[in-house]
Amino acid sequence: DDGLPGRAAVITGGASGIGLALAIAYARAGVASVIGYHPGDPHDPAAAVAQVEAAGGRSVAVPVDVRDPAATDALAAAAVREFGRLDIAVANAGILRRAPLAELTDERWDDMLSVDLTGVLRVFRSAAAEIGAGGAMVAVSSIAGGVYGWADHAHYAAAKSGVLGLVRSLGVELAPRGVRVNAVIPGLIETPQSLDAENSLGPEGLLAAGAGIPAGRVGRADEVARVIRFLTSDDAAYITGQHITVDGGLTVR
Ligand code: NAD
Repeated sequence: DDGLPGRAAVITGGASGIGLALAIAYARAGVASVIGYHPGDPHDPAAAVAQVEAAGGRSVAVPVDVRDPAATDALAAAAVREFGRLDIAVANAGILRRAPLAELTDERWDDMLSVDLTGVLRVFRSAAAEIGAGGAMVAVSSIAGGVYGWADHAHYAAAKSGVLGLVRSLGVELAPRGVRVNAVIPGLIETPQSLDAENSLGPEGLLAAGAGIPAGRVGRADEVARVIRFLTSDDAAYITGQHITVDGGLTVR
């Protein structure tokens, strides 16, 4: 028994990519989800909820900008209101913006850290106020925050590295309460973020990069989602403060 059926989760960035794949994976595992969607972005929250329902799950969509602490509080409150409980929080929302050092202004740096690092803190702080013993939280870092240097992305790498320190320390801090905190480190995964040629590799770049990955291809969003689902289940009951890399062997070749 992985303990998941009947639990409730909040997911930021839940209307696209890895977040949406996770909401669907949770639906199949009997976990109800609150899909946090960013109102300014082109992803359709109603379509996301429909996909979760088609997979046999329960879901509601709530607008959340992780730069706003009141919004992350409202996200956690929505789980309690809609499902009567909150067991799982997944801080998945993130941005990726190409910026060579000469163009990496304080403003761009601060914008990146507010979403990709402080945004994780806000989600965890809001959720921890509602999550009881047996609960779990996961942050989505990146190989750029693990071991991989990435030109023109120093601010992203700094934020994603920071996430790993945050997770280690909160893992220790919340363990006595029975709440676990972990991270996943995705490699190259085909999602709207990586398909954006301006800020990331784009479709052709992804195809080319796939050939250089030991697995011979880039990853799928559900291949990351299922690892997050594992980390938030009782199958991972004794894992906290850790990160798991999901990259087809890219960073160990
Ligand atoms: P994605 O662009 O589909 O997902 C990112 C989500 O974050 C979107 O739904 C977007 O609307 C949301 N978002 C952006 N700014 C927000 C804000 N201020 N408040 C709330 N939500 C906001 O791409 P994805 O690849 O599924 O990204 C999910 C996570 O995975 C991100 O943290 C990303 O950095 C990380 N990641 C992705 C890859 C990859 O190769 N795709 C690799 C490593 C890490």
